[in-house]
Amino acid sequence: MTTAADPSSQDPRSLVLLGAGHAHVQVLAQLARKPLPGVQVTLVSPHPHLFHFPMVAGYVAGRYDLDACNIAIEPLVRASAVRWLRRNAVALDANRRLLRLDDGTDINYQWLSVNIGGVQDRDRVELNLPGAREHGLFVRPFNALGALWPKVVEMATSRTLRVAIVGGGDTAVELAMAIRHRLPQAALTLVSGLTGIAIQQPTAMQGILAQALKQRRINVVPDRATRLSEAELTLASGARLACDVALIATGVSAPGWLQASGLACDADGFMTVDACQRSCSHANVFGAGDVSTRADSLLPRNGRAALSVGPTLAANLAAITAGQSSTACLARSGALKLLGYGDGRGLAAWGGHALQGRMAWWYKDWIDRSFVRRLRESAPPAS
Ligand SMILES: Cc1cc2nc3c(=O)[nH]c(=O)nc-3n(C[C@H](O)[C@H](O)[C@H](O)COP(=O)(O)OP(=O)(O)OC[C@H]3O[C@@H](n4cnc5c(N)ncnc54)[C@H](O)[C@@H]3O)c2cc1C
Repeated sequence: MTTAADPSSQDPRSLVLLGAGHAHVQVLAQLARKPLPGVQVTLVSPHPHLFHFPMVAGYVAGRYDLDACNIAIEPLVRASAVRWLRRNAVALDANRRLLRLDDGTDINYQWLSVNIGGVQDRDRVELNLPGAREHGLFVRPFNALGALWPKVVEMATSRTLRVAIVGGGDTAVELAMAIRHRLPQAALTLVSGLTGIAIQQPTAMQGILAQALKQRRINVVPDRATRLSEAELTLASGARLACDVALIATGVSAPGWLQASGLACDADGFMTVDACQRSCSHANVFGAGDVSTRADSLLPRNGRAALSVGPTLAANLAAITAGQSSTACLARSGALKLLGYGDGRGLAAWGGHALQGRMAWWYKDWIDRSFVRRLRESAPPAS
């Protein structure tokens, strides 16, 4: 990167919030209550809404409309009086404190906080599953799924659809059950990869989920998808699966440019942070949510963890911009796992315990709606 033309380069007391993710919307809400004196705060994020991803299966199942799952960014920006650049970041030079945006502008910062989530890297997915870019329906970013899912539902009114879900994590499992609820006549296959379903979860939970899938007539194929065409999914075993819609629900990776940024990253390219959410290499950079890996391994990579660090991050950004050291640390493991089955039931799992049924769904629904409501109340839309 060569230029540094932005006016904020004149002002050393500048904080850039990169991404309007689950932690940063809480930072904005906190800034609305308590501004940072003398600090120019800039938000860099392209989308007008944050889609609350833990509600995505409820959206697919038809339990929520889009409005219920979206948090508008503009009211938060207005209430917190931050500057908003509706741009994507495409590169970072952490040693020179320069962030490059997708219009070619470079902006300087004194402090940076990164909360941009993970990406489904189309190039990487295409390498492993040729045809996915052209024919697959990707879960992330949400815009495409949000726009196309109603069309799939409409198609299903005139014929029996064959739907394949590619991915074996709990997200893929949850989406498969949500689709079953929304499309009761469809033929559903979950292509889970050779390791099977939800392998990161305790064995007891895997068994419960396998049973729940079976009860809902969802065919689980423990094989790897190797090619996707308009009407067919080819598997590593050579088997071919007719499919009209293939949902790509494989996991997220780190944005490619992060590894070249100079920030300390883990082997998968996610930025490493300490218990205060501060970069392990750059004391003026913080990170939260899916884009980060806690060096102490105490937080998983999921939406609840991204949510839980919001207050910690807000406190530490306030401290560091006031010249104090960041002390707020969060050492919670996010032990409770909540999954919705789409039909008003769900699964709550913690430690070696699991509870299945309506209560689990009720609790998950209450948590998710409460989060969205709380943020809306913190910054009502302009009248
Ligand atoms: C289908 C599905 C279901 C899920 N269900 C659950 C669940 O039930 N429970 C749970 O805990 N987790 C769930 N997750 C995981 C959860 O969605 C993520 O862990 C969570 O969204 C991560 O939050 P985040 O704040 O890190 O990033 P995000 O919520 O992804 O927000 C990132 C923000 O940064 C912006 N951004 C991205 N790139 C850039 C860039 N280059 N420049 C500027 N801005 C950028 C984006 O526009 C977005 O606004 C699910 C995920 C999926 C895909």
